Amino acid sequence: MATLLDRFEEQKMKKTKGKPCTICGEPIVLVPSAAERARKDVTGKPAQYFINLFDQHSECTVKKRSEEAVANMRRYRETGEGMII
Ligand SMILES: [Zn+2]
Repeated sequence: MATLLDRFEEQKMKKTKGKPCTICGEPIVLVPSAAERARKDVTGKPAQYFINLFDQHSECTVKKRSEEAVANMRRYRETGEGMII
């Protein structure tokens, strides 16, 4: 059962929408929300901790990795160097 304070936190989190993604710049919306994670966390971490935990969308990370892999392969084909995967 959510308390009023939890709801307030929840609303605040929704408003702040989390940190912007360091790759695409869009705000990161956590599901479940940071407030929700904080509520369930047994070690008493604040919601902010969970917001700070994520600074990239998982899709963006995957996209960036595959782009890096493609760039690596291209460099490898062109120069015979690299291939650090
Ligand atoms: Zn992103």
